[in-house]
Amino acid sequence: MEFKPGEELVVVHFGELWLKGRNRNEYIRLLDKNIREQLSGESFELKWYFDRLILRPEKNSDMTAIATRLKKVFGVSAFELSLVSKPEIESIDAAAKKLLSRKPRPESVRIDSHRSYKQLPFTSVDVVNSIKKTAAKLGIEPKTKGYEKELDISITKDAAFLTLDRERGARGLPVGSSGKAVILISGGIDSPVAAWYAMKRGLEPVYLHVHAFRDNAYAEKGKVSGIIGTLSSFYLHSKSYFVPSYIFQANSAKFGRYELILLKAFMLRLAEKVAEKEGARLIVTGESLGQVASQTSSNLAAEEQGVNMPILRPLIGLDKEEIITLAKTIGTYEDSIKPYQDVCSINAKNPKTSTKTVEMKKMLKDIGINRIAGRSLKASSVAST
Ligand code: ATP
Ligand code: MG
Repeated sequence: MEFKPGEELVVVHFGELWLKGRNRNEYIRLLDKNIREQLSGESFELKWYFDRLILRPEKNSDMTAIATRLKKVFGVSAFELSLVSKPEIESIDAAAKKLLSRKPRPESVRIDSHRSYKQLPFTSVDVVNSIKKTAAKLGIEPKTKGYEKELDISITKDAAFLTLDRERGARGLPVGSSGKAVILISGGIDSPVAAWYAMKRGLEPVYLHVHAFRDNAYAEKGKVSGIIGTLSSFYLHSKSYFVPSYIFQANSAKFGRYELILLKAFMLRLAEKVAEKEGARLIVTGESLGQVASQTSSNLAAEEQGVNMPILRPLIGLDKEEIITLAKTIGTYEDSIKPYQDVCSINAKNPKTSTKTVEMKKMLKDIGINRIAGRSLKASSVAST
């Protein structure tokens, strides 16, 4: 790859991908695709260059806007706005001077240099020593502890990249790299956070929402779509199933205090059916342990009776406080606290907290859970982004 000394570009790092051995190329291809989609509308060049991706924005691009969007791409561990110089000590020094002279000028700096091409006629220590002198001349104290800024110099055969601005990425794995998962999404606070975690670990979301309306169009217009819209800012593509609960409800009333746990079992059956249809391997829920009466360990065990697909519960160990903090950072919290006629609230009156699996099996058979799930799915609607 060719670099022009003096140009500024974004160096994108993808940390965890290195752990993936043989799948590495596929992962980087996905990351490349996801970055391109995230930055659609911007003009830039994106190339894979050794252990990083180089993003070259068109002149006069809005770098703040690009950085804000890049921060949402899972699989990016960090990125840097870098100034390019020739891989020669004098050029690197001149570029460092240019960067350090920019306002606001730091009072102190830590200088760090590494070479990925070892045949260069100078060492990293030579580079650091040279820039230390340059910094001192500018009145900037070189420090290794308690410094204000960090100047990082990465040197390859083709160029040196200097940066004072390293941004933390979203981390995780590129969405799609772990396949698909069906995510049980409610209008609440928790399940959108679970969806975010699923995407962070590389799962492409297929959302499934069970609603209390007669007409799917009502649910599609409701706040769950707003939540899915916010989640789509992390990954554009998703499919959403809106499934009515009236078929279930017509059959569940006689189960009294078990109605809520049966509703959960119904949702998991639906999820499994959708997963088979969509080629998903996993189901994800926003359940935590002991958070509400319906989420005791025996209820969690009972509700998944007869479901063969693995169920992931990424929030299992989190407190409500921790989940709320995450929901605010992700951006779903505001929509989640809006009033909504949720199916769970209809069934939530004093639910059983200890459901035995044998009892559960009997009830599932009695209600005809598979038939009800199948019929409900036929009555659902599907939306795509
Ligand atoms: P949330 O805030 O995610 O609604 P919660 O604390 O209200 O969770 P529950 O109502 O018991 O807890 O729901 C537990 C999980 O069941 C949810 O996180 C979600 O994955 C799933 N779920 C609940 N309601 C629905 C629904 N209407 N449609 C689809 N999935 C649902
Ligand atoms: Mg809920």
